[in-house]
Amino acid sequence: MKRALVCGAGGFIGGHLVRRLKDEGFWVRGVDLKHHEHAPTAADEFIIGDLRDQQVCRGITEFAYDEIYQLAADMGGAGYIFTGEHDADVMHNSATINLNMLHRVQQTGVGKIFYSSSACIYPAYNQEDPENPKCSEESAYPAAPDSEYGWEKLFSERLYASFHRNYGIQVRVARFHNIFGPYGTWTGGKEKAPAALCRKVAEAPEGGTIEIWGDGLQTRSFLYIDECLEGIRRQMQSDFMGPVNIGSDEMVTINALAELAMGIAGKRVFLKHIPGPTGVRGRNSDNELIHQELGWRPSRPLMEGMVKTYNWIEKQVSAAQK
Ligand code: NAD
Repeated sequence: MKRALVCGAGGFIGGHLVRRLKDEGFWVRGVDLKHHEHAPTAADEFIIGDLRDQQVCRGITEFAYDEIYQLAADMGGAGYIFTGEHDADVMHNSATINLNMLHRVQQTGVGKIFYSSSACIYPAYNQEDPENPKCSEESAYPAAPDSEYGWEKLFSERLYASFHRNYGIQVRVARFHNIFGPYGTWTGGKEKAPAALCRKVAEAPEGGTIEIWGDGLQTRSFLYIDECLEGIRRQMQSDFMGPVNIGSDEMVTINALAELAMGIAGKRVFLKHIPGPTGVRGRNSDNELIHQELGWRPSRPLMEGMVKTYNWIEKQVSAAQK
């Protein structure tokens, strides 16, 4: 039986990935600072541990795994990474985790290690036009990410590439673009736009008002979790090291995303635009490389994932109001 380690297994993508690996027949160990808030883990073993601590990393790598998925990071939505208040923690915590884990796999060996980078590494200067952002993989340099979160991801991408170059470690690096779905953070300040908008719409009365950061004309694309998992697994099974985008190319404005949530809710609410952290003006996944290298690109419409996500968040909102 193949053995996999999922770092960040108590998080949104990690929790879903553990389930997927179990369905595929892996023995899975998960590690995280915390248990998953919204669902019991599917892992064979779940270890509560801080990956900034070298002893913890040593303890969980007593043998060579077939596959390691390094998803643990200090992260959140725009309200967390663009205010500047968490910059030192974001950079220090996430970089330390990656330094520790690569140091360990250099000592113990590993079949392959996957690292989740982000669309936030792309230069701000290519994302000023909301209609026409440029996020093809080779456009990452000259580097100019718009957040320290993005700079740390870029540093860590290079760290993984260096361990491949100097120590022959098999690495796979993907740049996720706004992954969403049920069982993700939906309140508390670390939630991302789809979850935040679903929550606001679910909480609002008919004819009420919800707040949108900025003018709402900033564009993004959002990828449903199941498609993300498919992309991760395909890359892991391939010889393609990346970095490669794993994202949707169905670009929408934030206002349109709010309208979508309203349509699903069957509720009319008004949008009030207020100042807030918004990030770049436009961002969209360029899926040419993934198609070329893996013969695959995500294809399900945004609406389909939003229906599942809205229904799950509406249930959480109702339960919280009781
Ligand atoms: P998440 O915050 O839900 O999961 C990250 C997990 O890492 C959390 O459960 C957290 O407790 C854990 N963690 C943080 N510090 C830790 C530490 N010191 N030791 C052990 N565990 C620690 O985020 P997610 O949405 O599941 O994202 C997973 C990965 O994908 C992250 O690396 C993130 O940067 C990357 N990513 C996500 C998105 C997205 O849209 N969700 C987009 C781009 C990149």
